[in-house]
Formats: sequence, structure tokens, C-alpha cells
Amino acid sequence: MSATVRFAPSPTGLIHIGNARTALLNALLARRQGGTFVLRFDDTDAERSRREYADQTEADLRWLGIEPDRVVRQSERLALYEAVAERLKAEGRLYACYETAEELERRRRVQLGRGLPPVYDRAALALSPEDRARLEGEGRRPHWRFRLDARVVAWEDAVRGPSHVDCASLSDPVLVREDGSYLYTLPSVADDVDLGITHVVRGEDHVTNTGVQIQLFEALGGPVPVFGHHNLLTTASGEGLSKRSGSLSLRSLAEDGIEPMAVACLAVLVGSSDSVRPLPDLDALAALVDLSHISRGPARFDEAELETLNGKVLHALPFAEAEPRLRALGIEADEAFWLAVRGNLTRLADAVRWRGIVEGPLVPRIEDEGFAAAASRLLPEEPWTGATWAAWTAAVKAETGLKGRALFLPLRLALTGLDHGPELAGLLPLIGRERALGRLAGEVV
Ligand code: GLU
Repeated sequence: MSATVRFAPSPTGLIHIGNARTALLNALLARRQGGTFVLRFDDTDAERSRREYADQTEADLRWLGIEPDRVVRQSERLALYEAVAERLKAEGRLYACYETAEELERRRRVQLGRGLPPVYDRAALALSPEDRARLEGEGRRPHWRFRLDARVVAWEDAVRGPSHVDCASLSDPVLVREDGSYLYTLPSVADDVDLGITHVVRGEDHVTNTGVQIQLFEALGGPVPVFGHHNLLTTASGEGLSKRSGSLSLRSLAEDGIEPMAVACLAVLVGSSDSVRPLPDLDALAALVDLSHISRGPARFDEAELETLNGKVLHALPFAEAEPRLRALGIEADEAFWLAVRGNLTRLADAVRWRGIVEGPLVPRIEDEGFAAAASRLLPEEPWTGATWAAWTAAVKAETGLKGRALFLPLRLALTGLDHGPELAGLLPLIGRERALGRLAGEVV
């Protein structure tokens, strides 16, 4: 059976690398199975949801390389929720409650004081039609609770294995507020049924919800999907990530020059039995995705690891992929340039600097003019290849008796003005003989 999965963010902020973990696990499962990936915006909370966050989420997913097969917005599907709510009311599974928040809080305290679990006592189920008419006559509007079956709901979690929630210890959840707006549960399950979702892959903060949701799936007669609850990404110090803080948002990572594949590899592989490593594309990552490899402990996100991974992704990036991006940075380069510098990049934009070193002008650093003059005399005639550097430095070594750092550093300082940088064997042919001679003579070229 091919999978239909969904990523269901509420558009209340910028998505972060932890949300990317959920999105990628879903999208890559669909990719591997030729399934369908639905992007569903849980935007029934009109106060907090913003269209620009939804649009930015789509842009962020595109940046990661994910194109949803379908995009739906809960705010446009209220008729479905209405129909589902009416059906549940008719069947007696959704019942009207009139308690105020203060009344509920008072009862809760009494229960706790008696050592009882603070579970809703279902007093509203005992209300007669007359009671309800009287309450409504006083101006009260009902909120609506889902009547749970008092039983243990069990499922085979694709990540966590055999799992269960004892619904007997839960309050009947409120599905519809007094003002008629929906909390997350009913729209989510109604949509999962309507959209034919086969696998619900999401963070383990939703495990308790799953007991209630399975009962709701059953009440609606929909097939119960496979559930998989993955561990959550935390910061290196163990704190949860938040859409509100904006740190580690995909947008800020993109703006900081982090490669989408670095984000994808870390988001998917951290906290799993697969080692975090750079992979060339999402297909390669999809081939690795296996929900049963995800570990139970928290997945700590380490920014230093992302930096390292970013470098590794760039070091392996083929020229064909780099070329259009280099052009966007104003660099018209050939493959030789890319191969010479990519191993030194931590950000693609660092290439601009190395382009400047090749093309100049730069101020060479000459500390020993005699040495520079000797090196200059020994510089081979063109054409130059990747072997020219070795041949030249062997000749300079033979004549000056210098070797190692004492030989290479002055040449690097003269040719690039810097004491570090990409391998000179690759850079030298790009610099070319004329410019190299000029720099060895101390000219700004
Ligand atoms: N909007 C919910 C969230 O962002 C979706 C949870 C789910 O996947 O069911 O947590």
C-alpha cells in the first residue's frame, strides 16, 4: 500500500530544524514509497495563525527540496468539521457542557484535595433538556466534550513499538469551544480520515493525544492510521526548540548560508542509529529513513555539528550544482576553480574571497626578497597543470635548501597574501604565471 502522509504545522511562527525533522521524515517516507505528501496548515486558531508564516513554511520546505503533493488549510475546511461535529452530537459522543473555567478549577482542587485524579466528572452528561434550556437562558453557551470510552487504547508505534494510553484516566477532551471554534483534535482527525492519511508521523509530544484520536478515528468509522512518534530535537543544553524564539528557524539558517542538505541530514539522522553524515541529495537520505532506527532518548542538536556538516556538504558538492549558485554570487568560474577551493569552504559565499585571491589585485607579503627572486626564476613555463606546484617547489627546495613550512609559507604569503587557504597546487594554475611573477616581485596584481 502506498503511503499518504502529512506534515501539519500551525502557521504561528517560523518553522525550525525540529519541525524540519517531522516534515522530512514524512516527505522522505512518501518519496521512498512513491506515496503522497500533504502539507496541512492547522490554522483554525484565527488569532495566532498568519498567512505569511504559512507562505514562509512553504518556501522553507521548497528550500529543503520538498514540494508537497497537496496543500490544505484547515481554515477552508470548516464545513467538514461542522458535519463531523453534528454527527458526533447525534450519536451522543459529543456532549454539551456549561461549566465555566472557574467552576472546573474549583472542582479540580476539590478532587486533588481528596486525593482523586483531576478528571472531568461528566456532570454535564446528567443535564436534562430543561437544565440546558435554563443555562442557555442565563446566557451560557456550551463547549463540547468527546465522550471517551474508559479503556486502554493500544497501538503498534512505528518508532516506539507497542504503546498504549489509558483513556479511563483522561478527562473527556473539549473538541469545540463556546464560540464554536475547534481545538486541534477534531479537525486533525476529520482531515486525516478525509485525506486518506495512512501514516501519522509526528513528535512524541503527541503520544497522549493518540489515545483520544484513535477513539475518534473509530467513532468516525475511518481506518486508524499507523502512528509513529519520533523523539524531539533539543538544543545542545537540552531545551526544546520553539517557533517563537526564531533561533534555528530554517529561514535564519538559510540566511546564514547553511546548506539545505546539511540541515536535512542533521534533522533526519541525529538521534537515530544512523550516523550523522553528509549525503548528496534527498533521495539518498530517503533511502536511509527508517522510523524504527529513531532512538527513544532526546535528539540533541549541536550547532557545531551543523557547521561541520555544512562544510562536508560543500566539499562534496559537484560543480554542476555549484555553478549556477556561484554565478548568483557574481563568480564566473570553471570547474578547476571549484575543485581548487571547495575543500576550504564552510559557506558557499566564502568562494567570493578565494575568487578574489585568484584574480587579485592583492597585496603580496614578501618577507625575503632573495628567496622570492629565486622562486621567481625557477617558476616553470606555462602550460600549467596540477603537477606544476610540486615540480616548482622541488626546484626551489633544491636551490634554497628550505623545506616544509619554511619553504611553503613564504610562497603562500607571496602568492595569496595570506598564511592559510586552499591547496596551492590547485590555486597556482588559476593564478597563472604572469600574476604569480608579479606577486613574487611584490606587485599588487
Ligand atoms: N498542528 C499540530 C502540531 O503542530 C499537528 C500535530 C499532528 O501532526 O497531528 O503539533
